[in-house]
Amino acid sequence: MDSTFRRTPDIHLQDLIDGLLNGNRVFLSKAITLVESKRSDDRKLSAELIDRVIDSNEDSLRIGITGVPGVGKSTFIESFGKMLTSLGKKVAVLSVDPSSNRTKGSILGDKTRMDELSRDPNAFIRPSASGSSLGGVAHSTRETILLCEAAGFDVIIIETVGVGQSETVVKDMVDYFLLLMLAGGGDELQGIKRGIMEMADHILINKADKDNLKAAKQAKEDYKNAVHLFPPNEAEWVVPVGLCSALEKTGIKESWEEIEKYVSKTRSNGWFSENRKRQALKWFHERIHARLEDDFYSKPEIKEEIKKREKLISSQKISVRKAVDELFN
Ligand code: GDP
Repeated sequence: MDSTFRRTPDIHLQDLIDGLLNGNRVFLSKAITLVESKRSDDRKLSAELIDRVIDSNEDSLRIGITGVPGVGKSTFIESFGKMLTSLGKKVAVLSVDPSSNRTKGSILGDKTRMDELSRDPNAFIRPSASGSSLGGVAHSTRETILLCEAAGFDVIIIETVGVGQSETVVKDMVDYFLLLMLAGGGDELQGIKRGIMEMADHILINKADKDNLKAAKQAKEDYKNAVHLFPPNEAEWVVPVGLCSALEKTGIKESWEEIEKYVSKTRSNGWFSENRKRQALKWFHERIHARLEDDFYSKPEIKEEIKKREKLISSQKISVRKAVDELFN
């Protein structure tokens, strides 16, 4: 964010909001940079910005996409995104990357990964926010979703690597969670834990093409059987298992049709809005925790007192319980 934003925040904030609401991507990018900023004056501006654009787009759809590295996420998002823009949708692609602290270099990497989509005037690709904690990254990604929606994007895709905790974080910010899988190799080899499979609203076996087609069809039957054993979900949704080839662009439209079925079903049975409401409440409580923690640890006197007590605990001169009590007194 350039420094003029700070010097005369009111005027510039209004420009920023106007530009954003007009769907101007330069302003959208600036707004995202602002909400990602950790400076305290930026935080104030961000709060005002978010507050003023928050209820702009109720009809958006937030889709999470996960799968192990190499499964074809970016190839899929490219094909899927192009299909959506051809239907007249505006598509934003964000990512939550737990290993990030990504540099500008990988921003370019992302763009070339989704080369066609990044040149599409109806698409917006933003690399993952960097941050020291997954919670912090999740928070700015959530605000980024709101900004994209305010800028008129209908479908927001949030990509994450399917290897750790980030799936849960993404599941908590999307309406629909799509898991990309590969045929063969077994779940364990693919590094996908059962819990992640159970979070999925859709299992899609990618690379169902060429020599791999037969194995993909077999995998589809296996996963279908596995899905039957999952506990019932609150959306009352039977998780579809499909095949696609992100490379040959087959099965892409069919997967969108499944998503549309989900949206129509959950909008009529109330789950769609119930889920968003629960997510917002969970986010609220997460932020309270984060704020309390930040405020507590950032006090210089607390830092010192903690150090002292660490020593006492290490030499068994004080119990943990007593040390904590003393800190809070
Ligand atoms: P990501 O790490 O999950 O984002 O995976 P990428 O999209 O980068 O794809 C990894 C590799 O798999 C690349 O070489 C792709 O060209 C290839 N790939 C992706 N989708 C398909 C597909 O549907 N069929 C085949 N045969 N290869 C694919």
